[in-house]
Amino acid sequence: MVPPSPPGPTLTPPVVQASPPSPPASPDRQRSALPEVIFAENLCKGCELCITVCPTKILKLDTSRVNIRGYNPAIVYNLAECSGCGSCAKICPDSVITVRR
Ligand code: SF4
Ligand code: SF4
Repeated sequence: MVPPSPPGPTLTPPVVQASPPSPPASPDRQRSALPEVIFAENLCKGCELCITVCPTKILKLDTSRVNIRGYNPAIVYNLAECSGCGSCAKICPDSVITVRR
């Protein structure tokens, strides 16, 4: 008969703490960091008010085409410079522009 072996040092298993699950990203954080400037271009009458008011001067009329009303529609040509201020949307008399930040 084999005698019981003397008790050795007790090994304590390492405690692994699971990190808490990350909260889901908010809808704003899921979106691009850049604002969105959306044109309902067939409503545009090319009055250029939005172009005049834009503080970063990134709007212009697209002279390469006309909308169904026969006007060159306003477009944004350098979205990276858009501050998302919303001035273009506010001044447009025909509610052509929607700005999402
Ligand atoms: S949101 Fe402001 S900066 Fe951006 S296009 Fe409109 S007026 Fe210009
Ligand atoms: S203010 Fe409105 S109608 Fe006038 S050019 Fe800009 S988007 Fe078109």
